[in-house]
Amino acid sequence: MQSDATLFVVATPIGNLADMVPRAVDILQSVSVIAAEDTRHSRRLLDHFNIATRCVAYHDHSRAEDLAQLLARLAAGENIALISDAGTPLMSDPGYRLVDAALSAGYRVTPIPGACAAVAALSAAGMPTDRFTFEGFLPARGPARRQRLEELAGDVRTLIFYEAPHRLQETLDDMVAVFGAGRLAVLARELTKLHETIRRLPLGELRDWVASDANQRRGECVLIVHGATGSADLGAEAERTLRVLLEELPVKQAAALAARLTGARKNELYQLALGWKEE
Ligand code: SAM
Repeated sequence: MQSDATLFVVATPIGNLADMVPRAVDILQSVSVIAAEDTRHSRRLLDHFNIATRCVAYHDHSRAEDLAQLLARLAAGENIALISDAGTPLMSDPGYRLVDAALSAGYRVTPIPGACAAVAALSAAGMPTDRFTFEGFLPARGPARRQRLEELAGDVRTLIFYEAPHRLQETLDDMVAVFGAGRLAVLARELTKLHETIRRLPLGELRDWVASDANQRRGECVLIVHGATGSADLGAEAERTLRVLLEELPVKQAAALAARLTGARKNELYQLALGWKEE
């Protein structure tokens, strides 16, 4: 290690300023410089807490020289801090390269934990938390987004997504098409703010509810989707494939082929097809 300086990775509020933790204020007041995603944005927060420390811009498009200057401060024995516009840095926010470089160069990196929209939403979603996956933002374009969702359709872990409000409706449409209308989901909107809304419904109902109320397509949101649970939740794609194949083939063959085509479990498709036949 070239010095015993520390890079502090400091979480800031995701809406409600009262969520700023006292240790974050102390650290931000004490470091020599704060690397911020957007210095003008963060200045308002820092002023609110009487933090006069100098801010420098640091984001995913920062030049190698900017990174080198921050590392040079650590080399000179100065403690520095990293913040993003809101919540925990690196969580769908800049900072990865800086933290990686600081660790690689042998400096101490210390997190100052605080708000994170994904964890806040998960804690109030009433979904299994023993295993979950944070997917961040889905691809913005339809075909790539659907492909990513298809890759996740059989995942048994709780799925957490960030989504922009103007894409929420089409993302919910795609989720219904790929995961099936019955899969349980939670929309957590404007967490910690005045219009905080947390709604838990099967995906089909959640999509319709969002479609019927433009207010639900405003502000910031997290989507949480229950992991795959088996026959009740094979996914719309698998069910559609099975129905088409059943028009031409006996149950056993249709289930086997649908399983190969969609990745769903053969036995579950077989049981589902038998159920349809009985109906
Ligand atoms: N680093 C942040 C964190 O720790 O949550 C996330 C930054 S990411 C650029 C911004 C996204 O986080 C938003 O588009 C939204 O999906 C989610 N988000 C941030 N604040 C939120 C809030 N108050 N309520 C719901 N979602 C929020």
